This record gives sequence, structure tokens and C-alpha cells, in this order.
Amino acid sequence: MKDKVDDFVDWTEDKLKDAVSLLVYEAVIKPYILVMRTKGAGNKKSLSTELKTALKAASVFPSVVNLDNIRYYVNTWNHGGSGNAVTFDDEMFYNANPTFETCRELHWLLHEMTHTLQCKRVGGMVGFTRRVLGGYSKSALKEFIRNGGRGFDVDKWHDDVHIETEADCYADKYIKEFLKQMNAGRPANKQISDSSCPTARSADDCSKHSISF
Ligand SMILES: [Zn+2]
Repeated sequence: MKDKVDDFVDWTEDKLKDAVSLLVYEAVIKPYILVMRTKGAGNKKSLSTELKTALKAASVFPSVVNLDNIRYYVNTWNHGGSGNAVTFDDEMFYNANPTFETCRELHWLLHEMTHTLQCKRVGGMVGFTRRVLGGYSKSALKEFIRNGGRGFDVDKWHDDVHIETEADCYADKYIKEFLKQMNAGRPANKQISDSSCPTARSADDCSKHSISF
């Protein structure tokens, strides 16, 4: 049974995590987003009507994700190789120029938009930061601390973060219906093939990183 000491320690740990998340968000992530917005000012786009219609018809996201508010920046994120993207709330920064004309890019869009949903579910960017920090394994955190943050290989640990597996699993779950709805309004010669759809993660992988939506 929990006593007052347990309660106090739990409360302290909780407040500490809140404080660290707020600090990391204000000192690191927020300035980073501002830089990215400036960098990508000329490359900012909204979701096309076709994408929005198909997303709605496939019932991919609950209404907490407002499709009209989503903005994506193409050729903007320069961290790492091409084919990366990072999403903060309603904004996505692609180090690529996706046209969403392939299954792979549609799956990628679902993956990034799942980060929007994750962010909404925890009340915004500070809560999301807290979730991301909590998602790194101890070995990732140890490497980060040992090197004083220098040379930390984001990509190496990226899939270690539960939000990433969760986003893959969510995209896997909806990609077929999304693709079907995209093709529903298209003529035969403009159909998007399912040949480039990524291999779905295993059920075991997905259940281990259970999705709390
Ligand atoms: Zn991701």
C-alpha cells in the first residue's frame, strides 16, 4: 500500500518531469521550430482537398486533428539524409518533396499525422516533449549524457522511441482504406498502386507499443 512518502516521491517525480519537459520545449524545441518556419517560409503547404476528402472518408483521424490546420514544409528539414521528416503538432517539416502520389508517401503522411494526434492527445507540445523523452530507452539516454549531447545520432535511436512504432502501426492500420479512398475518385490511368506500401510492423511489435488512442 502507498504511504505518504510514496505519494510525495511520486508527486516530486511527476513535477520534475513536467519541469524538464517544459525546459526542453522552451529552450530547445521551440527555437528549433522557429528556425524551421523561417527556413521553410516559401515551401509551406496545406493538405490538398483530395487528401482531406480521402482521410475523412477513411475515418483515419478523430476530429481532434483538424485537417484544415495541417501545414507541411517541403525540402525544409536538413538534419540527416533525405527521406526524413519531423512533426510538431500541426506542422510537418520534410527533408523531401513528397507529392503523395505513391503508397509509400501516403503511408509516410499517415505516420507524420499520427504525431499530430499524439500531440493533441497529451494536450500539446509540452506534453508531447514529455512523452518523447520518456520514450527513449536507458541506453539511448546514457549515450546522450556520456557525449554531452554531442554527436547524438537521432536516426540510430529514432525507432527506439515508442511514439515512432506507434505511428508506424497507426499508419499500417489505415493505409489500405486511405489508398482505396484516394483511388475512388480517380480515373483508371491515375490509380495509385499499392506496390510501394511499406511492410507492416508485426502485430507483436504493435501490441508491445500499445496505442492509446
Ligand atoms: Zn516519426
